[in-house]
This record gives sequence, structure tokens and C-alpha cells, in this order.
Amino acid sequence: MNDWFTVEKIDYDTYVISEYRHWEETHCYLLIGAEKALLIDTGLGVSNIKTVIDEITELPLEIVTTHVHWDHIGGHKFFKNIAVYENEKEWLFKFPIPLHVVKNNLTKEHCDFPLEFDITKYQIFQGEPERILHDGDLFDLGKRTVQVIHTPGHSPGHICLYELERNYLYSGDLIYKGIFIRQYVHINHRQYNVKLYHKKH
Ligand SMILES: [Zn+2]
Repeated sequence: MNDWFTVEKIDYDTYVISEYRHWEETHCYLLIGAEKALLIDTGLGVSNIKTVIDEITELPLEIVTTHVHWDHIGGHKFFKNIAVYENEKEWLFKFPIPLHVVKNNLTKEHCDFPLEFDITKYQIFQGEPERILHDGDLFDLGKRTVQVIHTPGHSPGHICLYELERNYLYSGDLIYKGIFIRQYVHINHRQYNVKLYHKKH
């Protein structure tokens, strides 16, 4: 039993997996289709998120990265099938922020980290993605389809994931609770030019 993560259900086959014990309060989403499952982001990487996924589903799993920031790719090391947007794929080989800055961010507020986590051994994920994404690409999970929408601004290759049938938008760091961060590496507020379309009921 992994008590680092909090698992909640959005509906009967959609889960949110959160790290509420850390100040970042990251959220990852697990979507179960008829043939495949999709995990959107992997959180901080201080505890093994794969053990949580394995308890929920045995379906083949794909991992999609909303953007290559350390708090969204931490658990990528536990998986193989990783997808990333085309213009951030290099960041999976060379992360643009130094390790000591990331470590300071990770530990800047007190947190009871899991026992297995050792900050002195912490490394930013580096690895080869399986799939390179483009605007409009689809994940077909079997009776469930998720579309890639390129939404730069927070980072150049930031994407949202959209499920038309359920009217769900998984927004990564495009939309979040708290202070709007303008001063961070590669944030470009001119690119926050997002048009939101609302379906009228
Ligand atoms: Zn971010």
C-alpha cells in the first residue's frame, strides 16, 4: 500500500492521482479505455507511481507528458511507453534547469518525504521517448479517444488533452490554482493566447 499518493475517481474509469503531502500538490490522471490506459504526467518521482497504476489496471499503458517540467516527469523513470510533444523532446535529453535549482524547489517547504526517497540521489528524468506528438494527434484507448492540443505559453511544448465525448480538458499547467507564474525559464506570456470554446447547453 502506497500512502504517498491520494487516488480519487472523476468517473467510473477516470482517476486522479495526487501528491497532496508535497507543497506542489501535483495531479496525474489515469484514463481507462477498452483496450489501453493512458497516464497523463507522472508527478514528482519521489515515490513509485507505477505501483498505484498496477493496482488499478493491467491494460497496456501509455504515458503522455503535458510538458517537460520536473514536477510532471518525475515518475517517467518507472515506465517505457512515453510520449512528448515535438518541441520539448530535447528536454528529455538535456533538462534546461540545473539540478540544484530543481532540488531547492523540491525541498523548499517542509515535507515528510517517503522513506525510500533520498534527495542526495535525486536526478531529473532523462530518457528516450517512444512517441513524438504533434498538434491534433489522437490517443485511441478503445472506445475512448483523447486529442492533443498544443497550448504554448507556460512552456513551448505544453499540450492539453481533450476528450470530446466527455467534454473533459486535462490542462496541465496551463490552468492552475494559485499565483500565475510569469518569470520562469521559457515561459512566454505572449503565447498564452488560448481561445476557450464553450459548448452551450
Ligand atoms: Zn510546469
